[in-house]
Amino acid sequence: MRGVETDYLVVGAGATGMAFVDALIAASDADVVLVDRRHRPAGHWNDAYPFVRLHGPSALYGVNSRILGSDVIEETGPNAGFYPRATAAEICEYYQHVLDELFLPSGRVRFFGMSDYTMAAGGEHQITSRLTGDATTVRVRRRVVDARYLEPSLPATHAPPFAADPDAWLIPVNGLVELSRPADGFTIVGAGKTAIDACLWLLESGVPADAIRWIRPRDAWLLDREFQQPLDLMPRLMEGVSLYLEAAAEAAGIPDLFRRLEACGQLIAIDPETEPAMYRCATVSKSELARLRTIENVIRLGRVVRIGPDRIELQGGSIPTDRGQVHVNCSAPGLRIRPGRPVFADGQITLQQVRACQPVFSAALAGYAEATRDQDAEKNQICPANPYPSAATDWIPVTCTAQQAEIIWATDPDLYKWMQSSRLNATRGIAEHGDDPQLKSALNRIFANVGPAISRLQAFSAGAPA
Ligand SMILES: Cc1cc2nc3c(=O)[nH]c(=O)nc-3n(C[C@H](O)[C@H](O)[C@H](O)COP(=O)(O)OP(=O)(O)OC[C@H]3O[C@@H](n4cnc5c(N)ncnc54)[C@H](O)[C@@H]3O)c2cc1C
Repeated sequence: MRGVETDYLVVGAGATGMAFVDALIAASDADVVLVDRRHRPAGHWNDAYPFVRLHGPSALYGVNSRILGSDVIEETGPNAGFYPRATAAEICEYYQHVLDELFLPSGRVRFFGMSDYTMAAGGEHQITSRLTGDATTVRVRRRVVDARYLEPSLPATHAPPFAADPDAWLIPVNGLVELSRPADGFTIVGAGKTAIDACLWLLESGVPADAIRWIRPRDAWLLDREFQQPLDLMPRLMEGVSLYLEAAAEAAGIPDLFRRLEACGQLIAIDPETEPAMYRCATVSKSELARLRTIENVIRLGRVVRIGPDRIELQGGSIPTDRGQVHVNCSAPGLRIRPGRPVFADGQITLQQVRACQPVFSAALAGYAEATRDQDAEKNQICPANPYPSAATDWIPVTCTAQQAEIIWATDPDLYKWMQSSRLNATRGIAEHGDDPQLKSALNRIFANVGPAISRLQAFSAGAPA
């Protein structure tokens, strides 16, 4: 059996593994072995549905050392007024360039694609080629980095969680672009971002809203893309932060908190009459929201149990269907919900979200902390694990943990300097907007409310009366 030796064995060359490695090698002389069972980097984007794009701007995605696309605000099209959002193909090409033009030429990163990582019985680290079966033992001098702990669950490989009659016309969302005959109608199964993307794509492709039926077991709180824009548009982003902190500081209880967050535009419901029960960081623009609201045939009878040739059974009842109806399975959960664990522990690093809904920035931050700090306690203070949200009320602990970390970052001069040089950091370049009245008023509101907001959110998390 072949053997190699390295400082860091990074398992997973998806968005988090790539951002971590880039930040680590930029701030240290570390040697890295990067392994992935896929043939190239980019993780889940390799299997994404064809019309998917980033939910947020490309300006905040990828690795620190290389821009993704162009940081020029779009003037036309559905994304007008915002920074571009890369397609899956652009993201895959980008990460291949990062590997070929930055990582490999550095002489400090070796990539093992089409290879599975396993830990053998004796604790030995092994990578096994999926092509030849050859196994390589990896001796790790410093750490193993788990960059697949939050690997998303994908529509392309997700088996439907319901039964379907062989005569029912059921396709995964990826199959929409492969339809070869017109459908009588489209039934979208799922309430998350994949379902939103499917509905928007159908509408943009000329399918009338009344030909779409949307099975939404739970509604989701959504984020407004207008408040997610960095660089020239950052004052608006900071205004958003200030508004949700003010809402949190003033909330009399949890229902009041969500009323306030909705009133100040920081959480959006597709149907204002239906209180969302879910929150998974999904983002839409106002124009997308308006288009989604044109779909009026929304079924709220719980999850699908079975799709038959002429009826769909749901947890709370049944509805008619027929063989001319395409049923589109959008039920894969996307973000993988797993319990938080220390990011830095013993010989291991487990990459997780720290800043809310920013897993890639969080991974880069972990790379920098690993390169520049000695003690795990300090590294974990900089990078507290912040599990992805799922239920609506998860907004509370996610925001609370992220805000506490923001205070640590802002008051550490070295971290502040790194953050201001990090293209993945949404607040990079904030000083350049010092004279902007919107930013000034946002900062005043943030300073006034961040302490009370954290206290309130802690109390709500601890079960203060709602
Ligand atoms: C549709 C969609 C849109 C998104 N948009 C945004 C956005 O706009 N902005 C944003 O910040 N985030 C966004 N995200 C989230 C983000 O892109 C990443 O999906 C998230 O951080 C997960 O990336 P990852 O590196 O953890 O997982 P992955 O990309 O899945 O990478 C994990 C890798 O580990 C490999 N692997 C797993 N087990 C093994 C093993 N035993 N041996 C070898 N290799 C293994 C897998 O093959 C995979 O390539 C989006 C996610 C989705 C699904």
